[in-house]
Amino acid sequence: MPPRISYKVQNMTDETATPALNFVQTIIEHDNQTGKFEGRVQTRFPPEPNGYLHIGHAKSICLNFGLAERYNGQCNLRFDDTNPEKEDVEYVDSIKDDVRWLGFDWQERLFFASDYYEQLHDFAVQLIEKGKAYVCSLSAEEVREHRGGWNKEGRNSPYRERTAEENLDLFRRMREGEFDEGAHTLRAKIDMASPNMNLRDPTIYRIRRVTHHRTGDTWCIYPMYDFAHGLCDSLEKVTHSICTLEFEHHRPLYDWFLDQLEVYHPQQIEFARLNLTYTVLSKRKLISLVQAGHVSGWDDPRMPTLVGLRRRGYTPEAIRDFCERIGVAKFNSTIETTWLEDALRQDLNRRACRVLAVLRPLKVVIENYPEDQVEQLEAINNPEDAAAGSRQLPFSRELYIERSDFMEDPPKKYFRLAPGREVRLRYAYYLKCESVVRDEQSGEVIELRCTYDPATRGGSSPDGRKVKGTIHWVSAAHCVPAEVRLYDHLFQTPDPNKVEEGQDFTANLNPHSLEVLTDCRVEPSLSDVDPEQRVQFERTGYFRADPIDSRPGKLVFNRIVTLRDTWAKLSRNKAPKAGNKSKGGQKKQAK
Ligand code: ATP
Ligand code: MG
Repeated sequence: MPPRISYKVQNMTDETATPALNFVQTIIEHDNQTGKFEGRVQTRFPPEPNGYLHIGHAKSICLNFGLAERYNGQCNLRFDDTNPEKEDVEYVDSIKDDVRWLGFDWQERLFFASDYYEQLHDFAVQLIEKGKAYVCSLSAEEVREHRGGWNKEGRNSPYRERTAEENLDLFRRMREGEFDEGAHTLRAKIDMASPNMNLRDPTIYRIRRVTHHRTGDTWCIYPMYDFAHGLCDSLEKVTHSICTLEFEHHRPLYDWFLDQLEVYHPQQIEFARLNLTYTVLSKRKLISLVQAGHVSGWDDPRMPTLVGLRRRGYTPEAIRDFCERIGVAKFNSTIETTWLEDALRQDLNRRACRVLAVLRPLKVVIENYPEDQVEQLEAINNPEDAAAGSRQLPFSRELYIERSDFMEDPPKKYFRLAPGREVRLRYAYYLKCESVVRDEQSGEVIELRCTYDPATRGGSSPDGRKVKGTIHWVSAAHCVPAEVRLYDHLFQTPDPNKVEEGQDFTANLNPHSLEVLTDCRVEPSLSDVDPEQRVQFERTGYFRADPIDSRPGKLVFNRIVTLRDTWAKLSRNKAPKAGNKSKGGQKKQAK
């Protein structure tokens, strides 16, 4: 086994210095200096096609493809398809799509572990010939029992001393389908007393009578991941085989196979996997959410899958930026979900056009505005981007405003509409509330009767009169109805994996993770909005038309993210009450 080398990570000394290298870059630069791999950098992203990719995988994709880019190397996409029971072409296709969407290109280097089954089989035969592997006929239960435990040495299998001839014969017959599942396994002959359980004669081949999604029924024996993975890396001449920290104790085994077979030897490097607050990132748990119907599918916009984030409206740029910001470390930690949302807000702030949309409409009639008059008012599309230009907003006698922008009996610091109060309508005029109309039965306010000041067109008063609040609106005659889906964290506790005894992680699901508003009104420019376009509903958040459910005539918008973090100030164990989400933002902007 090669000695463990420790590398020193450079520190940033001052602001003008180039950012410090992450520890993997430090290793690569060291290797490039010493000529360990002749200056080559060859990485790979090795998903198992047994589920959809999630944001954690994005970290690994950005790292592997990013290193190849940085050092003029190459990154392969290799499917580690060694578990035919759980794998499927559906997953292969979605994974390819996701990697491409993130903006990476494996060019012609798309590989599958199953492409190497014949070579892997030959490697197993070589191990048998070298006396380094044997066919074991213990049952799975007996193997477990012989293996011992952390404080208990293992015992040798009674089949450990079979001759190479006998092993070769049995292994050939295993391949030919002579035996039932579980009758025999091929095991590496390493050390049943090793403190590292991975070295206690691990299984390298097992019999599975399962049709493989690529090789069909050609094989009934399948290699184990630990055996296949390093040898595939070796066959692809990978230089730096980057994997997550839990494989650290597998590295001696990774190295053992390569050393015994005397083949090209990549360097395995482990990094800390991404964990995010309010999120689960285990494929098993994500599958169970889909199967139990807690979400509408893998692409439910609340899922941390790349298809989910993508449908929600995340941009690949924001995800790549997030992966860059969180860096790469050697110790496990949990990243705040706000980091991901902040990367997104920063990206959307630059690119999203501002529009007016009213989520919970309250009708306003401007009594002194001529009945048949319509004005076109100029509205700026994006104050962050002069090139985005401006558009015309129709204004007329009847409008809708946000229900929460009116209070009959407002508290002291409420600067929006109230009886007798005046506010500014964004891009339009000052508006004063004169009286209210109530529902006869419920007494609820259903309409505001207002007046406007024609001298305040554009939003300022020639007499210097100031108003504190600016609210958004749409023209009742011109607006377009829409459904709006307000998505929030899928879980209400920062660590959803932590559960009370007798519960499972679904006990931590956030009951308010989706609120559907069916009676919203958006400005007319959105009537045929392209779902690829992200917009900011002023004062409310970032939105996009749902790429699956929205169409002209029946608009459906997804909230991508609120304008600012609404969870930060809340008690860490309590979800916000529905409807409370953007209050802070509204207040601030209304001033
Ligand atoms: P499981 O352990 O549930 O089978 P996995 O998430 O490890 O799934 P793989 O398909 O084996 O799934 O992962 C492909 C690559 O992505 C691996 O190199 C793995 O280490 C990396 N990866 C997986 N999850 C994360 C994560 N949360 N953070 C960073 N990298 C990850
Ligand atoms: Mg894995």
